[in-house]
Amino acid sequence: MTAPVSYLDYNASAPLLPEAAAAMTATFALMGNPSSVHRAGRAARAVIEDAREAVAALVNVTPAQVVFTSGATEANGLALVTGPVTASAVEHPSVLAWAEAETIGVDADGVIDLPALDNRLREFPPAVVALMLANNETGVLQPVVDAAALAHGCGARLHCDAVQGPGRVAVDFQALGADTLSLSAHKFGGPKGVGALILRPGLELPAVIKGGGQERRRRSGTENLAGIAGFGAAALTAGAALKDAPRIAAVRDAFEARLADQAPQARVLGQGAARLCNTSCIMLPGVSAETQLMRLDLANVLVSAGSACSSGKIAPSHVLTAMGASEADFKCAIRVSFGPGSTAADLDTFFSAWMPLALTAAA
Ligand code: PMP
Repeated sequence: MTAPVSYLDYNASAPLLPEAAAAMTATFALMGNPSSVHRAGRAARAVIEDAREAVAALVNVTPAQVVFTSGATEANGLALVTGPVTASAVEHPSVLAWAEAETIGVDADGVIDLPALDNRLREFPPAVVALMLANNETGVLQPVVDAAALAHGCGARLHCDAVQGPGRVAVDFQALGADTLSLSAHKFGGPKGVGALILRPGLELPAVIKGGGQERRRRSGTENLAGIAGFGAAALTAGAALKDAPRIAAVRDAFEARLADQAPQARVLGQGAARLCNTSCIMLPGVSAETQLMRLDLANVLVSAGSACSSGKIAPSHVLTAMGASEADFKCAIRVSFGPGSTAADLDTFFSAWMPLALTAAA
């Protein structure tokens, strides 16, 4: 039997929910193309439209506002391709790639500097302001409502990358005041490789992938039927997950309390700001993230360095750099992110593997 794994990397990807797996498996029996008008086509179409309703309900919009994509990277690109874009310095690389040098700094806790955003918008109004709902490395929540008001004041749109939100905080498109919003299924129990762009009613953006005109001409190509079905099933469970958020917050808070008690030299980054219930970005001075990660991996505890980089290597974190961390600091930062499967037992496994490093570094 393999040893149980303490999976503490939900911000990188959450385990596939059984409901999502079942919904996906059911689509394998559907032979029709969702665009075909015969009954096999209509059966496939029905799966997509049911999923669209579930995703729409998740973020309080109507189904016509939902465009299915290959994930949040594509959704962010669709929203931002019409740039110029002004973005916070702590956005995901799939947003920053469109912002070039137009980034707005954050404070030591990682919260955007709103007066700096205001000044920038007055001087150089962009087409789009991009501000994420919650940061993937630190869990820090951003003042999206305020940024949307500033963006609208200068005639710009507000794009919100809400990828880390579902199941952890309420994500209400209208309440946020956003014009566009991106989601990714695999962060809350859906499959990897599917996401959505949410559009404000009446807003049409140029299609990037053109062809057969699927998704109301907004994103062509035969739909990822299994992926969309799994996304819809995960969206249906997000409400229940939100009810579990206080329990996850209690696990995370117990983690941080134990850290303060047993390894007082460690720091929790972004702790002074409002954060997601599930994320702890911790820095252990003098012990590299690689060393911490490998030690934990050997003990079957799976966490990330500040962010999981595509090469599998640990790159310097632009998020922690923007928060003013020195290179020595961010090289020693790891991200622990909890989820519905996390319990107090995971904390015991974590600390028994990690404490020897903290004690050696302190000695
Ligand atoms: N934005 C944020 C905040 C993310 O955490 C991620 C995933 N790491 C993405 C965008 C990209 O999402 P996807 O994997 O669906 O392309």
